[in-house]
Amino acid sequence: MKLVLATTNAGKVRELSDMMSKANLDITVVGLMDYPDYRSPVEDGETFGENARKKAVTAAEALGEVVLADDSGLCVDALGGAPGVRSARFAGEGHDDDANIEKLLECMKDVPDGKRQARFVCSLCLAFPNGDFFVTEGDCAGVIARERRGNFGFGYDPVFLLPDGRMMAELNQMEKNLISHRGAAYKLVMPQLRALIKAPKQTL
Ligand code: IMP
Repeated sequence: MKLVLATTNAGKVRELSDMMSKANLDITVVGLMDYPDYRSPVEDGETFGENARKKAVTAAEALGEVVLADDSGLCVDALGGAPGVRSARFAGEGHDDDANIEKLLECMKDVPDGKRQARFVCSLCLAFPNGDFFVTEGDCAGVIARERRGNFGFGYDPVFLLPDGRMMAELNQMEKNLISHRGAAYKLVMPQLRALIKAPKQTL
């Protein structure tokens, strides 16, 4: 069965393909680069779930395929949940991960230890050409450190301290998948994908 992942990031497509083969699921994952005429909708939702749903439902209806879309980010308690859905552009459009971390550390510099709780959140939406959809969400709790540590991962990983004392950026991909918000959201969508392979003509 074919599954379109609503991204043009080849790394994400490869990662999901690997996940499908490891789970023994006969699913061929393709990305939006296979649909060059398709234009993705603007991600203007107020929640991760809204953004994931918009991306998945719009693509499923336009392409006539089963589509999976994700949206994720960092929510910091002391910042009222920011950067949230604006995680990728916290330091402004066109700024990179490094600038986002700089801004985060600056915003957090007067926040005392004990009040630096945060969580990564990932929403996934599985959508069907008839408009049906299914959303899952996973999260991962930690605190915002005062300095960077670790060379793995991306985004805010170098300043996200886990309860076991390791920084998220000190975990390799396999270790991260076991505890991450993304891993948790995928775990919840797996039974839906399994059911889909058994009954490909039905929606869930
Ligand atoms: P996206 O959902 O992949 O577009 O992620 C949005 C933004 O959230 C990224 O650019 C990162 O800044 C942040 N983010 C999401 N997941 C992670 C993660 O696992 N580690 C660090 N940062 C993340």
